[in-house]
Amino acid sequence: MTLPALTGIAPETLADWLSAAGEPPFRAAQILEWVWKKKAASYDAMSNLPEALRRKLAAAYRLSALQHAATQGAADTTRKFLFRLQDGRYVESVLIPANPALYGEKSDRHTLCVSSQVGCAYGCKFCASGLAGFTRNLDAGEIAGQVIAAEQLSGERVDNLVFMGMGEPLANLDHLLAAIALITGKETLHLGARHLTVSTSGLVPQIRRLAEHPQQIRLAISLHGATDEVRQRIMPVNRKWPLAELFQALDFWNQRKNQKLTLEYILIDNVNDSLEQAAILARHARRLRAKVNLIPYNIVQGLDWTRPSDTRCRAFREVLVKAGVTATLRLEKGHDIDAACGQLRLKRETGEGIVPAAM
Ligand code: SF4
Repeated sequence: MTLPALTGIAPETLADWLSAAGEPPFRAAQILEWVWKKKAASYDAMSNLPEALRRKLAAAYRLSALQHAATQGAADTTRKFLFRLQDGRYVESVLIPANPALYGEKSDRHTLCVSSQVGCAYGCKFCASGLAGFTRNLDAGEIAGQVIAAEQLSGERVDNLVFMGMGEPLANLDHLLAAIALITGKETLHLGARHLTVSTSGLVPQIRRLAEHPQQIRLAISLHGATDEVRQRIMPVNRKWPLAELFQALDFWNQRKNQKLTLEYILIDNVNDSLEQAAILARHARRLRAKVNLIPYNIVQGLDWTRPSDTRCRAFREVLVKAGVTATLRLEKGHDIDAACGQLRLKRETGEGIVPAAM
């Protein structure tokens, strides 16, 4: 029998379990502190709990939902962690140091890119995660557990979370919201909701539902095309929810939330990088009061698109900036390990060699 992981257990559930086990209520705070603040690596480390309680806990809950399988990257660069789940599947999380251009050379801030599903059903044409299709949703313990595991492995504090790893987070909204409650909860990780960004390919009903959620979570939209015709070539989801419907949902979001939307736009050579697309994108961004992140395409094994020249990327951004839109463009190359979410997992599941696990 697979035990539930403690990283997915809400404080109220833990309190109920302690009460049923005949334990005093104050033990809940101690256990939560070991899991979320001290990030205990074993039950034995929980030194202020009686041994009998540790044994009962171990019989009821796994401490972690994830087993570290591999790391790529070094401490001062982007690091990608591969985790093995209980059922033998793999997911990845990517720890990204702060951009010195934005935060200064000495900044030690870190952003963690978290996965929400094993594989993905949405099949965006630029994405390694979509290549092998959808396997299953992650549960709250597997989602929130990525933050604890990344902090344990790196020794760093995660300051920002982006749900941009493997999977479409809004297709797993119930588990995502349960994980967010644990990540933001006072008794658990206690990271501010404003430091969380959910990225979606554009699931309209779920965007509306998240807009009604009381916390000020940020939203990023994988747009990648400024017209239906272009976007449909890249993102099959656009057939179900075309731009007009998506933008209505984003208007609703803007009415409910006091957060600037982000439009993500991967620049693909001769697919979506024309200056006409830039001009239309600028109109959308202005109307939605959104900022735009331009990301030159990185090669994905098995896909044959290419990256536009730096000159073309700059010209695209220039159109946006001239129209008064805040637009960022990251041109540095050599980001082979964060090239595309899902690649590390695909290599592991297809048996290609990767580096062994290293703390
Ligand atoms: S970009 Fe996101 S939604 Fe699209 S296939 Fe990849 S993981 Fe799925």
